[in-house]
Amino acid sequence: MKTIEKENLYVAGTYKRFPIEIVSGKGATAVDSNGKEYIDLASGIAVNTFGYSDDEWIAAVTKQLTTLQHTSNLYYTDPCVELAALLCEKTGMKKVFFSNSGAEANECAIKAARKYAENKGNSTTILTLLNSFHGRTLTTLAATGQETFHKDFLPLTEGFAYTPANDIAALTEAFEKYSPCAVMFEVVQGEGGVNPLEYDFVKKIEELCTANDALMICDEVQIGNGRSGKLYGYMHYGISPDVVTTAKGLGGGLPIGATMLGERVKDIFTYGSHGSTFGGNPVCCAGAVNIITRLDEAMLSEVIKKSELIKNTLEGSEGVESVTGLGLMLGIKTAKPAGEVVSRCIENGVLVITAKDKVRLLPPLNIPMEELKKALAVIKDACR
Ligand SMILES: *Cc1c(COP(=O)(O)O)cnc(C)c1O
Repeated sequence: MKTIEKENLYVAGTYKRFPIEIVSGKGATAVDSNGKEYIDLASGIAVNTFGYSDDEWIAAVTKQLTTLQHTSNLYYTDPCVELAALLCEKTGMKKVFFSNSGAEANECAIKAARKYAENKGNSTTILTLLNSFHGRTLTTLAATGQETFHKDFLPLTEGFAYTPANDIAALTEAFEKYSPCAVMFEVVQGEGGVNPLEYDFVKKIEELCTANDALMICDEVQIGNGRSGKLYGYMHYGISPDVVTTAKGLGGGLPIGATMLGERVKDIFTYGSHGSTFGGNPVCCAGAVNIITRLDEAMLSEVIKKSELIKNTLEGSEGVESVTGLGLMLGIKTAKPAGEVVSRCIENGVLVITAKDKVRLLPPLNIPMEELKKALAVIKDACR
């Protein structure tokens, strides 16, 4: 295949791709270069919130694209202001910094935490969780509590310490040992295997952060933007984070990252203290406004309904050991190796991916029920 041969010659070999070239898509259906159709339950890794070529989203993006594609942050533009206001209204956060990816959104959160600590003369150590994933830049790699990602790239940015997820005693000890200025965590560890944090553990993070004037930073890059069944995953835990980062599904397929700043850090950044050439790009923001506007109660309850359908169909089914996660970010622990199940699904026209030793499902939030049911039958068969 021409594309694959060319790729091997010219594209850096960072990705182990499935041997498929996707050429087009509509809704939850992707089409490869041989004309084969797939029901896509991965959504470009939680990016295509409303699937491929969604009409409303295309209209919003095209309108902006043909009006003004970019002008830099030296001038005011409306789409980024509209998006910031929308995000703040819907979350209670106070201000937003825009970037282009999850890693950058987290970099901004880390800079906010460092500056907050610096201003107060506190320790600059940031506590993160083992088995977390926060991105691929040197600093977000340092924040990522998995050594396999660190090796070959040392030295990483200093000032991170790690503690195991769902271990309240270890968390308390880590606070005593490091007096961290912030704790950064995913309420559902995505790359780590789709593992939700326990309610009591998250509440303890909040309690310790409040008592020790540390910032609570929620990395909502993957679980955010409606995927959990609430607008943001932390909302399931009744906590009020100081910083919320998101990206992936925010733009519905366009590159955008957002770092939402709460009351304590809303004015932490001042002229010149942070920036991004493409940050707040009008086209990406117009796409994101469309996505966030459509994540209303009806859409979120549909997410929960579909989540329940998936769990009810797969739990207890032959070869399925467990289903973990929230909303439409689910991990299936299978008796067979996850990679084998994924290959079998692809052969049978369903795109799913892995997360550690699990099969991971991240379908578009608006996938039609009938298509979801068809895909689940294929998955069920592949697990058996
Ligand atoms: C994907 C992901 C990131 C990194 O996002 P990029 O856009 O790839 O930089 C960070 N945190 C979490 C939780 C993610 O899932």
